[in-house]
Amino acid sequence: MAAPDARLTFHGAARSVTGSAHLLECGGRRVLLDCGLTQGRRKEAFEQNRRPFIEPRSLDAVILSHAHIDHSGNLPTWRRLGFKGPVFATPATRDLCDVMLRDSAAVQVRQVELVNRLRREQRKNLFEPLYDEGDVARAMDLFRPVPYGRRVDVFPDLRLTFHDAGHLLGSALCQIEIGSNGSARSLLFTGDLGRKNCVILRDPALAPPPDWVICESTYGDRRHPPCETIKDQLAEFVDTIRRRKSRLLIPAFTVGRLQTLVFYLHQLHEEGRIGNVPIWVDSPLGHRATEVFREHPECYDAEANAFFLRGREPFSFERLHYAQSIDDSKKLNTQKGPLVILSSSGMCEGGRILHHLAHGVEEADNIVLLTGFQAADTLGRKLQQGLSPVNILGRPYAVRARVAMIEALSAHADSDEIVEYFRESKATPSRVFLVHGEPPQPQALEARLREDLGWSRVDVPAPGESVVLE
Ligand SMILES: [Zn+2]
Repeated sequence: MAAPDARLTFHGAARSVTGSAHLLECGGRRVLLDCGLTQGRRKEAFEQNRRPFIEPRSLDAVILSHAHIDHSGNLPTWRRLGFKGPVFATPATRDLCDVMLRDSAAVQVRQVELVNRLRREQRKNLFEPLYDEGDVARAMDLFRPVPYGRRVDVFPDLRLTFHDAGHLLGSALCQIEIGSNGSARSLLFTGDLGRKNCVILRDPALAPPPDWVICESTYGDRRHPPCETIKDQLAEFVDTIRRRKSRLLIPAFTVGRLQTLVFYLHQLHEEGRIGNVPIWVDSPLGHRATEVFREHPECYDAEANAFFLRGREPFSFERLHYAQSIDDSKKLNTQKGPLVILSSSGMCEGGRILHHLAHGVEEADNIVLLTGFQAADTLGRKLQQGLSPVNILGRPYAVRARVAMIEALSAHADSDEIVEYFRESKATPSRVFLVHGEPPQPQALEARLREDLGWSRVDVPAPGESVVLE
């Protein structure tokens, strides 16, 4: 029997994809599953992040599924407002959070400074950033790293086990057992679920069949091409710019996607399929995140580990360079092709990629390779739609370069893969809640789970909706 007062409330990433946060209340304790940053329209998102839905001092623990900022990025705000921990996460999630939350703090401080410059002139009251680096340092002190497969007591009658989710380095499916040993029932929170046969990471691990499930549904209505197609496509793009002596510009999401691309390029280099084309990673955050990837080989799959057996390191090879300073970055503008540049941000909304696009987008021989979802109104979306001219750093540029995309690079399971995951794990939950998806994605997945697995109680909770687990 479950604890009689076990209750779930879906505060974030309910019918949306950012701000993941689900409150589990049980036995008089409050545990937050994920503490993500809400992104989107600046003012509304800022207000939502700044005003936690419960008094932070009354929160007893946080469990983080993984380090992506929409799952971990509001933790320093809660710390600043009085949350005292603990925070349960895998060791790799902890280390990636250290890098990502510091970067997030720097971005917040910079953005508020820009807004305040104008407000100062208008003699208006000044804004404060959501959090700064000091809040991040204090939040990092609350972490309790828990490796995959180790069961720990969060509280008496509430136990946690992480299983590899295969989505990002350190990402976890969170298995939470509620009630005393022997009569406990379990809740499985998928966080973001990864895909089979992708590089670096292992396939998602099969968690024991749970009684209740909170599952993501980002691509509940989609089918991705298989991961196996990525390498050949990438080889073709590099080969094209090699023959043309031009540039391949890759706006890359810095944590996860960037390392995946470097890994594929390393394989292609070893196989002699991309010649001696120089490859540059021009992203300070990407560089720091890659260091964390280097430090956690315990998260790698057999293929990534094979690099070590050959005496190699997956994220270094002769033709690969990491640009450190702004000067290094600027020098790339005058370097003759062929040349591959991976730089952030992934949706071309900021970062050093803007300079590379400004220098390269008007050349017909160049290729711009988009590597993931491009949100509405971003420069990435405009390029994807074939718009020209586009505005880059305040100036219009005619888009003559070819704009391409590798669809299979997604790190989220699609609808077939989610159904297959639960079929394999033999789960027959009594309640299922679909989160982290914008309509119609969760509704499409709901229909698949009912039809293909015969699950009868599948819901898409509204923001703030609360349910008693029974
Ligand atoms: Zn994620």
